[in-house]
Amino acid sequence: MKNVERKIDFHTLIENLSYELKLEKGKNDLLLTFQNATFETLTEVAFEARGYDYFGELISTESKEYFLIQLKNLNLKPGQCVVNYKIQVSKSIRQLDLKQSYVIDMTGQKEIYKESEYQIYYYDKFFPDSYKDKKVLDVLKKFNPSATCYPLETQAGWICCCGYLNKTENKRCKYCQKIKDEVFLECSQKSVEEKIAAEEKEFNQRMEKRMLERDRRETKELILFIIRFITVIILIILIFAIIIHFRTG
Ligand SMILES: [Zn+2]
Repeated sequence: MKNVERKIDFHTLIENLSYELKLEKGKNDLLLTFQNATFETLTEVAFEARGYDYFGELISTESKEYFLIQLKNLNLKPGQCVVNYKIQVSKSIRQLDLKQSYVIDMTGQKEIYKESEYQIYYYDKFFPDSYKDKKVLDVLKKFNPSATCYPLETQAGWICCCGYLNKTENKRCKYCQKIKDEVFLECSQKSVEEKIAAEEKEFNQRMEKRMLERDRRETKELILFIIRFITVIILIILIFAIIIHFRTG
């Protein structure tokens, strides 16, 4: 377990934004990857894009410094990712700066990205390469594969088991979409420790049962061996007795 720093934007509409430009076969493709960080299914996501040429100079379009990149006809569920969405851009663009602009949900509601509201916070993160942490993580990940810590209430909001800081009023995590009450019920330190203890108890009982069965099997095999051995001895004695009887008779 290590205390780590994380920075999030309370106003963000998307998370994990990454992009790359691929100039090949006379085409310049922008590959976009991001995650829906709203509580709605989105049909459209738009970005403000600023393009720079080979010399790093800003390319202006129609007297505007930026142009809009709009991804339409989406069906992007809360927490779901778009991976390498391909959009063709001008060949003169060598570098891009992207800023989230707005999203539109299933009901047609448009949400414009406001000013950022960054929060820096610290939390105790578990690491799978530590034996002690792995035991905790194994339990947490059964509830949420992206779990990484115990949930925590803070003044700024509540930290989900995935490590994301949510506003106090959020009933769900914006990042992993897990319900707050369930997160605190299933992933609290007390609950996890109880689960680990129960698992260890079950494991020990299973081992005891297995050893008992093995002991029983070995005893049975030993008895069978002794019976066979005695039978063979009796048979030999009988055969000798019969032979002696006939010889002397
Ligand atoms: Zn979460």
